[in-house]
Amino acid sequence: MKLPISPQWDPWDAWNTIQAKHRYELTSIEFTVTNLCNLRCEHCAVGETLLHKEEPFICFQTVFDRLDELETLQTISITGGEPVFHSDTVEKAIKPILQYAKKRGIYIQLNTNLTLPYHRYEGWIQDVDVVHISYNYRDYHDFHRMVYAKMNRTVSEAVAEKTFQLMKDNAKKLAEQDVFVSAETFLSPFTASHILQMHDDIVEMGCKRHEVHPLYPSDFAKGMSLLSLDDYRNAVEQLIENPKAWILFGTLPFFPCSNEKNDQLLWKKLHYQKNVTVRQDPDGRNRLNINLFTGDVTITDFADIPSFGNIFTHKLADIFAAWLQHPMAKKLHCICPAAKCTGPNLLVADSYYPEWNFSERKAHIEVS
Ligand code: SF4
Repeated sequence: MKLPISPQWDPWDAWNTIQAKHRYELTSIEFTVTNLCNLRCEHCAVGETLLHKEEPFICFQTVFDRLDELETLQTISITGGEPVFHSDTVEKAIKPILQYAKKRGIYIQLNTNLTLPYHRYEGWIQDVDVVHISYNYRDYHDFHRMVYAKMNRTVSEAVAEKTFQLMKDNAKKLAEQDVFVSAETFLSPFTASHILQMHDDIVEMGCKRHEVHPLYPSDFAKGMSLLSLDDYRNAVEQLIENPKAWILFGTLPFFPCSNEKNDQLLWKKLHYQKNVTVRQDPDGRNRLNINLFTGDVTITDFADIPSFGNIFTHKLADIFAAWLQHPMAKKLHCICPAAKCTGPNLLVADSYYPEWNFSERKAHIEVS
């Protein structure tokens, strides 16, 4: 029996196994099910892997055999590209994965831009535990500028307006049918100044959760400006003053081992504020990504990170164990249990704290 997802129970949080077993454990698998997408967002962290024609899938029996070996599996995420863009992806990959997850009582998240006609989601979306979308816009003008930025053809404002409205209408319809829609905003110099309006819009669409992350400077997003830590802190402070829905801060660029008093205070505040949670980063701590076209396994789908193995030759648990011994993992996998912190996301550490050796740091504060 699956517990409902709530601020008290986030099955993707890497903190769960640290708390229960005092170690990292592979509980989560992310599948890259497509490299196709109808959009080309300026901030896309996998943009350079996007294609116009898909390769065939690898053998699903091998995939499910590998999942069967993983007794600790609790969550699956489905990502792309846009997983719903091509009906073949829905029929050949998403539905079989949903069936598998249902049999084992595993939570499923679908990452989608939600811009396809509503009927494309009907008949199977109810089996998804979290429908995850991106929301970084005030209006269709922002949407137009951002989501077609890397398209190799011009897209009219009229098309952008229609697509933006479709996304919002789809989110509302799903929410009305009690589907858990979670909208993510990245904090950048642009979005930080409008974060309160975006929060209100997300609540208005009926989303149950607002996820807030840094911009990941990978692939298309590599050249984009990052928000300063001071501006990031200010945006978080504003947002948590009056959360109108659950706000989840993921890959947060502040740590309890910081010597900055402001950062220590913010960490505490986030842990005591109602309707606010901090998620410890799953990538490489409790999650691996499997590419369904190659069988390659990586710690995240972001293109710059090399593969650590392949499901045709290795068990998932063995790949995870090998990754934990890797110097990159050792450098970032610090744990301070009393502060409820399991260290930084790789891209966050590289962007904001290139000089810090996290394995030598210790938290200055505690939270209960
Ligand atoms: S777990 Fe790592 S990042 Fe977190 S407080 Fe401890 S040393 Fe700092």
